[in-house]
Amino acid sequence: MPNPFPSSRVCTPGETHLYAVFCEKCDRVIDSEIYRPVCQDCGGALVFNYLDTAFRRSEPVHSMWKYRGQLPVWDASKIVTLGEGDTPLIRARADHGVDLYFKNETVNPTGSHKDRALSIAITKATEFGFDACMLYSDGSAALSSAAYAARAGMHNIALVPQGAPDYRLLPLLVYDSTVLEYAGSAADALDWVHAACQELDLYETTTYRRANPYQSEGPKTIAYEIADQLGFVPDWCLVPVGGGGTLSGIWRGFCDLRDYGESAKLPKLAGILPEHYTLLQDGLDDGISTDLELRGLAGAAVHPAPETAQAKLAMAFPPDGIEAIAAIRNSGGVFLNVSDPEAFAAQMELGSQEGLYAEISAVVSYAALTKLRHSGTIQRGETVVVLLSGSGFREIGELARTLPVKKIQVDQHSGIKTLTRVLQGL
Ligand SMILES: [Zn+2]
Repeated sequence: MPNPFPSSRVCTPGETHLYAVFCEKCDRVIDSEIYRPVCQDCGGALVFNYLDTAFRRSEPVHSMWKYRGQLPVWDASKIVTLGEGDTPLIRARADHGVDLYFKNETVNPTGSHKDRALSIAITKATEFGFDACMLYSDGSAALSSAAYAARAGMHNIALVPQGAPDYRLLPLLVYDSTVLEYAGSAADALDWVHAACQELDLYETTTYRRANPYQSEGPKTIAYEIADQLGFVPDWCLVPVGGGGTLSGIWRGFCDLRDYGESAKLPKLAGILPEHYTLLQDGLDDGISTDLELRGLAGAAVHPAPETAQAKLAMAFPPDGIEAIAAIRNSGGVFLNVSDPEAFAAQMELGSQEGLYAEISAVVSYAALTKLRHSGTIQRGETVVVLLSGSGFREIGELARTLPVKKIQVDQHSGIKTLTRVLQGL
């Protein structure tokens, strides 16, 4: 709902782009001029209420900031942007029996959809006057936090899990980040970052709502763009799920469009996870609706996270998982698991048939399409948008483990003859 709270509870009027902040749990109005990632009274997650009664697009802005009336920023002159968002929606070349589009988030400034989240997060950091930020990630969020912090003249500290591959960390050094390696579980690392940020007055950019509520507004702009680019809301959106924030953010975006009267329709969402990652499905099956219930369910589950090449989705406890469950439940969609071999095959197929190179953790959404068509979940003729959340060009270190490089030797003397034979064999 665009206005879930009575207007009498709105705070800080008089700005160009207005929003109010509330606690999701106790409805407390938060003074948004003071930095607090969660409600100081009850620890509940913060939500934003945008006060503009119309859904506006600032034209011509060629980034997600065309929707800045729906983003939690007070001062437009302080926006930290590298041109994130406004990514292409590309119609598929191959016939899958559906009207298929790829939302190509691989072309964002650091090659993933996380740039939307971090552009907002770092913009807020500058509004609050921070000069350093820290997060737990060795993946897309770390890269994005490093880039946007650099852009803002801030210092970025990335806490990474032990054993994170060097090829993934090297770009962080280009952005002049400090890299800390955490000895311990992911759950402990998340808690440590949280505590360290509070103690040392650092701004936390870890990408789940309770760590940073501002960044969680980024993914909804993906939904806005899809609807604007298609001219309508699709039947299905297929979204890779790690922490759950992208899926739930996209769902909120589509709900916004409905609530503003932009579209009567809502899509079904498919949340795609690695094989053996069944916590969210279990939560959906059990009908749970609170974070506490999900934690209880996770406590009974297998630890640590099962091995997978889908490294960026490998979260034993998705921190925004409860919202992801709600998004699937409310959209009438499904969770689906994709195995590593299915993901590798889909990566090759997407590259060779469509000219798109998505990383393994992203291409699972495309792998899921085939499975959902076979099961009859997605019907012939439906309109489907597959989110390609991250570029494969950042993960060639991973590819080197599975794809041997085949080279055909040529020289001045026999090259033409060799090439002719190759062409005949195509
Ligand atoms: Zn509260």
